[in-house]
Amino acid sequence: MLYVVDSRELGKALKEEIESKGVPAWYVELWGHYIVVTPPNSKVNGLKTPVRAAVELKTDYQLVSRQWKRDPTPVKIGDREIGEGRLFIIAGPCSVETEEQILTTAKAVKEAGADALRGGAFKPRTSPYTFQGLGERGLILLAKAREATGLPITTELMDPEDLPLVVKYADAIQVGARNMQNFTLLKKLGRAGKPVLLKRGFGNTIDEWLLAAEYIALHGNGDVVLVERGIRTFDRTLRFTLDVGAIAYAKQHTHLPVIGDPSHPAGDRRFVIPLALAILAAGADGLIVEVHPDPDNAWSDAKQQLTFEQFKELVEKARAVARALGRV
Ligand code: PEP
Ligand code: MN
Repeated sequence: MLYVVDSRELGKALKEEIESKGVPAWYVELWGHYIVVTPPNSKVNGLKTPVRAAVELKTDYQLVSRQWKRDPTPVKIGDREIGEGRLFIIAGPCSVETEEQILTTAKAVKEAGADALRGGAFKPRTSPYTFQGLGERGLILLAKAREATGLPITTELMDPEDLPLVVKYADAIQVGARNMQNFTLLKKLGRAGKPVLLKRGFGNTIDEWLLAAEYIALHGNGDVVLVERGIRTFDRTLRFTLDVGAIAYAKQHTHLPVIGDPSHPAGDRRFVIPLALAILAAGADGLIVEVHPDPDNAWSDAKQQLTFEQFKELVEKARAVARALGRV
C-alpha cells in the first residue's frame, strides 16, 4: 500500500498512526513526493491522518511502479540526464588499466558523442587468478579522465565497505549483475546520495530485478537506472541471452529509466551493434557499452569491447534508430 501525503509532518504522523495498528510502515521523500509505504496487501482502514492519494498496488514492488507514478523519472548523472524521449550513451572500457588507456578512451568516446564514461576499478571476475581491477588507483584515473573531458563517470561497487571510496569519485554507481541481490549493498546505496545503475542479475527474473530497485528506493534513493545485460538460458552460443522483452516490460511497469548493455550478452564485438539497436528499438532510454583502444589486448572482456571506429558507427546507427522512434 502506498500513501502520498502533503507534507513531511503528515508523512511522519501517518507512519506513526499505521504502526500503532501493528502494520510496518516506511516514510520516504522521493521524486518530489512525501510517501508512506506499507507492505503489499496491508490496507489499514479508518485512518485519521489526511492522505492525498492511497494506492493499492497489484505488484510486490510499489515505489518504482508506474501504476501510481505515470510520469517518467529522469535521473541525473553529473550534469546530464537519462530520461524518456532522448538517448543517453555510457561508454568506456570494461576495466580501467592505465592512465593512457582511460584518457584516450574518454577522449574518443566523448568525441563520438558519449554522455558518460564507464570503467571498472573493482572487477567481479569469475576466476580469482584474473585481473581484479586497480581499486582506488582506477578511481583516481577515472576522475582524471572526467577532468580532461567533462564526462561524468560510472563505476562498479562490489564491497559495501568500499562505498565511501566510490562515492568520493563516481558520478553514478553500478551494481553488477552478480550483486543485484546483495541486499546489504542495496540498502547502503539507498543512503549513498549518488545515482545507481542497477544491472539485472543473469539468473534473476524481471520481478526480482524490480524488487532490487525497490530496495534502493525504500531506503531513500530514487535515482535508480535499470540495466538489462542479458540472462543465462539454455543457449550458450552468445555469452548471455539479451532479454529485450524485459526492457519493454520494465519501461511499461516502472517509471525509472531503463538502459541496456549490449556488450556482455554479445560476448563478441561482432554482435554488439545489432544488440545495441535492438535495445533501443525495445524502448530503452540508453546504452552502456564497452569500448577499448586496443580490445584484443584488454585485461578483461577482450573479445567484446568495441574499437573506437566501431563505437563511432554504433553512435551513428543508435541516433538513427532513436530519431526513427521520435527521440532526440
Ligand atoms: C561490467 O560492466 O564490466 C560487468 C562486470 O558487468 P555485469 O555485472 O553485467 O556482468
Ligand atoms: Mn565487462
